[in-house]
Amino acid sequence: MLVNLVYISSAIRLMTEAELSELLLKSRQNNDRVGGTGLLLYKDGNFMQVLEGEELEVATVHARIMEDTRHKDIPTLLRDPIDARNFGQWSMAFQDIDLLGDAERNAFSPFMNEPQKSMRLLQSFKKNMR
Ligand code: FAD
Repeated sequence: MLVNLVYISSAIRLMTEAELSELLLKSRQNNDRVGGTGLLLYKDGNFMQVLEGEELEVATVHARIMEDTRHKDIPTLLRDPIDARNFGQWSMAFQDIDLLGDAERNAFSPFMNEPQKSMRLLQSFKKNMR
């Protein structure tokens, strides 16, 4: 069964571009291997990530992410069965949330066009920014 999972978290300290690149590279390599896809947003030490894929694979990668000492306070906001992937073309898309204007956000992915779900999540991401 295909599922998606969304969480937010706080980096233990601000991450450099090099650290983010390394994290993304590893995530993409791992996700490619198991057919995982998704989106990672980062801004000023705050993450929001959408993971999607087969239930077991998502649970496995999520468990690893939860153990990662580079971030903390990692509530899961959403875990749902899905009919189709919203980020199927990305082993892990990455975006700085501030760079997403309304027009881009709407074009970014169908997931972003689900106002109740995704905007609530994005707003809670913004609210938690330090
Ligand atoms: P290795 O890369 O060999 O890592 C072994 C151990 O070292 C792991 O415990 C790892 O957490 C830790 N580690 C590795 N590099 C560092 C470092 N620079 N500083 C501190 N500890 C480190 N992984 C995915 O596979 N897919 C994802 O989508 C994904 N998203 C992530 C999102 C966030 C916000 C964060 C913080 C991490 C994410 N990760 C993701 C990374 C994940 O937490 C694990 O680090 C990674 O999956 C482990 O890969 P590996 O088993 O190949 O082990």
